[in-house]
Amino acid sequence: MPNIMKKVFNNSALHKYLIVFVLFALPSFYLSVKIAVASSIQIDQNNMPLKRPVNLANIEESSDTIHNMTQKIGAKLTADIKKTKLKANENLSSALSRVKFSSKDISFIVNSIYKLKNGKNILSTLPVGMDIHYSTPTNITGGALKLNFSKKRDIFVWQDFENNYSSKIFLRPTKSENTLIKGVITSSLYLSAIKSGVPENTLLEMINLLGFSVDFQREIRAGDSFEIMFTKEIDLLKNSLMQTRPISYVSINLSGNKLGFYKYYDEYGFPQYYDKNGNSSKRTIMKTPINGAKLTSRYGNRKHPVLGYTKLHRGLDFAAPTGTPVFAAGDGIIEKAGWNGSYGRYIRIRHTGTYKTAYAHLSRIHKKIKIGSRVSQGKTIGYVGSSGRSTGAHLHYEVLRNNKQVNPMNIKLPAGKNIPKQELAAFEQKVIEILNQKLVLEQKIDNKKVATNSYEREKFY
Ligand SMILES: [Zn+2]
Repeated sequence: MPNIMKKVFNNSALHKYLIVFVLFALPSFYLSVKIAVASSIQIDQNNMPLKRPVNLANIEESSDTIHNMTQKIGAKLTADIKKTKLKANENLSSALSRVKFSSKDISFIVNSIYKLKNGKNILSTLPVGMDIHYSTPTNITGGALKLNFSKKRDIFVWQDFENNYSSKIFLRPTKSENTLIKGVITSSLYLSAIKSGVPENTLLEMINLLGFSVDFQREIRAGDSFEIMFTKEIDLLKNSLMQTRPISYVSINLSGNKLGFYKYYDEYGFPQYYDKNGNSSKRTIMKTPINGAKLTSRYGNRKHPVLGYTKLHRGLDFAAPTGTPVFAAGDGIIEKAGWNGSYGRYIRIRHTGTYKTAYAHLSRIHKKIKIGSRVSQGKTIGYVGSSGRSTGAHLHYEVLRNNKQVNPMNIKLPAGKNIPKQELAAFEQKVIEILNQKLVLEQKIDNKKVATNSYEREKFY
């Protein structure tokens, strides 16, 4: 660095006024050469950083690069921006030390984050693998950091023209995309939906929701189809899926018999699903009391006795890998849990009214399941196995009415809580709204049977 500049920098009285002058008046080739060598970032000479007041009341929007952030905030110019990730067994200090920040800079940086609201907590819970964008300070450029510490937020740390470090939290810009996917089932619902681009957690939501009324082992046929509508939240900086919101509409067409469910929030703010007449998607007893995504195909596997209900076989078999969780089909009390002859490891639940359900050939019974204990619908009670008289891993599932096995395919099980009469009008309004959104998307659907519609930007909060 030229001596004249050192003098300028060391003269504290002139410092404030001259620094801006120095940045502008330096032969422009000096800066551009220096920066061009250091990184590929383009400097817009008309948009040099000037100090601007920072609005601390609102959380502002994050930017894609540190350079854009320094411009936005009016921080000291940065150059040579690099990227690393927080490694396991590292904290911010050791990560910064690894990338050659001086211990003095590290302590100033950590201190400035510490002073943020929740700063102490943020520092101690930084996720492993977190993106760290950084610029180490030089004599003329400032140190800066951008930490993508949570799904939606970044911490930006910068050096001002007096070389002090400051920190602030920014919200990452996101976009909501309403998405409609139509798919045809070729092998299993699970594989076909994944192939159609349904995110896995949305698919599990769909399977849980349909598992009350669909027997995924017997009722799904090649050629059956489904429709699903949900909202994706896209991280605009990474251009990647950040999260999905609960499904708003789902339908499945089983050999011409169509089931469709619409989302409606209950009084506690939880999403519930109903058909267009307001009947709950839930049944007091589930048709598929096992994770439907784990079911192995009923075709081509002779070892699995995947049987339907007959005079000789008074239950339904679900083929799934050993260890797949088995769910309580409904709320109830455990009546039996233990070895039961050819049934192997066996659980029976007494539900309200006249129904009981039984689960056989388990590899393991959940340790909390004891005779007399109370279980709620959907809770794991045991795991698929092949205990007792069985030729392959599967769940043997029985529904009993007045202590007699009945065919779950044929009984009309009582529904869960339907939409109350006084709320029907509001519900119907919601259904129309959902159908209108669907109609808009249907007009845009492509040959991959996917349509999206960006309908809002995330509000800052
Ligand atoms: Zn069986």
